[in-house]
Amino acid sequence: MEKHCLDCNEIIKGRSDKKFCDDQCRTNYNNKIKIEVTGSLKTINKILKQNRSILEKLCVDGKAKTSKVKLVQHGFNFGYFTHLYETQKGQTYKFCYEFGYLALEQDWFLLVKRNENNV
Ligand SMILES: [Zn+2]
Repeated sequence: MEKHCLDCNEIIKGRSDKKFCDDQCRTNYNNKIKIEVTGSLKTINKILKQNRSILEKLCVDGKAKTSKVKLVQHGFNFGYFTHLYETQKGQTYKFCYEFGYLALEQDWFLLVKRNENNV
């Protein structure tokens, strides 16, 4: 069976366990993957940082209530958060760095800023 180079797609001659024509193709390929990974990390980091700054803006005095509509209006992305925190009562806060939010009834949210002594 013919094998094709993962980088340039040329047919590879020689040993059957080779994945690339030569070192140049290998380097090329690995660099492309690196760029892709860096790109998706940047995208996710950007969303998380944006979420954080929205929470910071709305979370006045370290604790506040806000509506889902307001969060969405600011461009909040509910699909991304850094970690979860479950209270003893079984409530689960979602955090974007040091700011967290808890879903309340009827599309309201409680916003909190993490207290170093607390969480
Ligand atoms: Zn190649």
